[in-house]
Amino acid sequence: MKVMAQIAMVMNLDKCIGCHTCSVTCKQAWTNRQGTEYVWFNNVETLPGQGYPRRWEDQERWKGGWERTRSGRLRLRAGGRLAKLGKIFANPDLPRIDDYYQPWTYEYKNLTEAPAGDDMPTARPVSQLTGEPIDIEWGPNWDDNLGGAPAHAPRDPIVEKIRDEVGEKIRFEFEQSFMFYLPRICEHCLNPACVSSCPSGAMYKRAEDGIVLVDQDACRGWRMCVSGCPYKKVYFNHRTGKAEKCTFCFPRIEVGMPTVCSQTCVGRMRYLGVMLYDADKVAGAAAVEDEHDLYPAQVECFLDPRDPAVIEAARRSGITREWLDAARDSPVYDLIATYQVALPLHPEYRTMPMVWYVPPLSPVVEAVAATGSDGEDAGNLFSAIDALRIPVEYLAAILTAGDTYAVDAVLRRMAAMRAYMRRVNLGEARDESIAQAVGLTGVEMEDMFRLLAIAKQEDRFVVPSAARADADALAETHPLDGACPVGAPSEPRVMLNLGPARRSS
Ligand code: SF4
Ligand code: SF4
Repeated sequence: MKVMAQIAMVMNLDKCIGCHTCSVTCKQAWTNRQGTEYVWFNNVETLPGQGYPRRWEDQERWKGGWERTRSGRLRLRAGGRLAKLGKIFANPDLPRIDDYYQPWTYEYKNLTEAPAGDDMPTARPVSQLTGEPIDIEWGPNWDDNLGGAPAHAPRDPIVEKIRDEVGEKIRFEFEQSFMFYLPRICEHCLNPACVSSCPSGAMYKRAEDGIVLVDQDACRGWRMCVSGCPYKKVYFNHRTGKAEKCTFCFPRIEVGMPTVCSQTCVGRMRYLGVMLYDADKVAGAAAVEDEHDLYPAQVECFLDPRDPAVIEAARRSGITREWLDAARDSPVYDLIATYQVALPLHPEYRTMPMVWYVPPLSPVVEAVAATGSDGEDAGNLFSAIDALRIPVEYLAAILTAGDTYAVDAVLRRMAAMRAYMRRVNLGEARDESIAQAVGLTGVEMEDMFRLLAIAKQEDRFVVPSAARADADALAETHPLDGACPVGAPSEPRVMLNLGPARRSS
């Protein structure tokens, strides 16, 4: 067992109100510069919808992530070193600016400095890239709140994928559709395709906390990371000629603070905590044959931070006491492993993402309430989950590589918590049978409720500080190949780095 530690995130989609505060505060902190006008390290998508960049989930088009060969090995979808060499000057798998959007501003000066006259002054939109007037035709949230859904949502790659299965049950007419928000950042994957795609060895995953970064000095601007990342969360800065990406706010994490997006989240739907995992298991888990097994295989990689044998092995691996204490109190571990209500985003990309999601129950509750029935009643909710195939199949296509059984189990747990806690809050007798129906106890239901519904800051964010000394100690414990457990062996990789400006060699 080779124990490693990573800071991970869980987002509770039922609580996202789509306010975009996270995106805006992240942009102010990290991409409020020339060359990054179109860049959103954090963005919030309305689903069903096309996302940002447009149709990013269509890997037939973008060739991001990994695929499993017939012999059971993993290879980058975009091809190996030779294939990369062939497209190093003209990469057909790269999104163009119009796939993101043409960033724009307005001629505000016209409003404030126009001379007095008969006409109302106007502020035309101008491109932030060319300075020329433009017609705005798309933006990072063009289909926000299902705006234009009849025209745009049918082009959602997930809708296209499951339409054969669910037929005409997917509708985008008002009051017949369903929607929810999906906030997205870099997944800081355990098996990052971006790292293995980089010909310059500039992308790396830190050993001490698993954060994936770009070494700006080493980046040569080949952009193979942009096409290699299936989540399209690496961006090219056209001013500096370098790749940039979400840093998981590492300067804040290093001093025990939550990321900007987490701290400012209005819905209090983000959770941060340490996950311990067995690096020896990652390669096998990412390469399991059946895509439906990818979610349980990744869960199998995670280690119980309260198990004495794990703690002992972690100490031997150089993980500090502070990190082990944080791992024991990790809300992320509890949501993923104890209560099993969080799921990975697109496990079929085989990058082993480390930002997980509690799926939204709200489309089901709303549908039950719309029939005039009690949307908080456990019986009504359980049968509605079975009957409402569209959200479950859609959610499964996003979170479990299509395994509806796993999504169903999570939604049942969430529904049971709602029904159980409603009785408690109304002063009625606790009904243990509701908890037992989903394999939990009443005490666990209440703990889960405290974490998901009350969600105080100290419960949501359990972030240990990382002293530079810890990183140096880890550098000695894990030699150069230590930080990224998997990858195409033929790809150049530099794995262990201790900060954006400092790399071990
Ligand atoms: Fe790399 Fe994964 Fe982040 Fe994409 S989502 S940039 S593959 S770590
Ligand atoms: Fe959702 Fe929180 Fe972002 Fe608002 S700040 S859009 S609630 S994730």
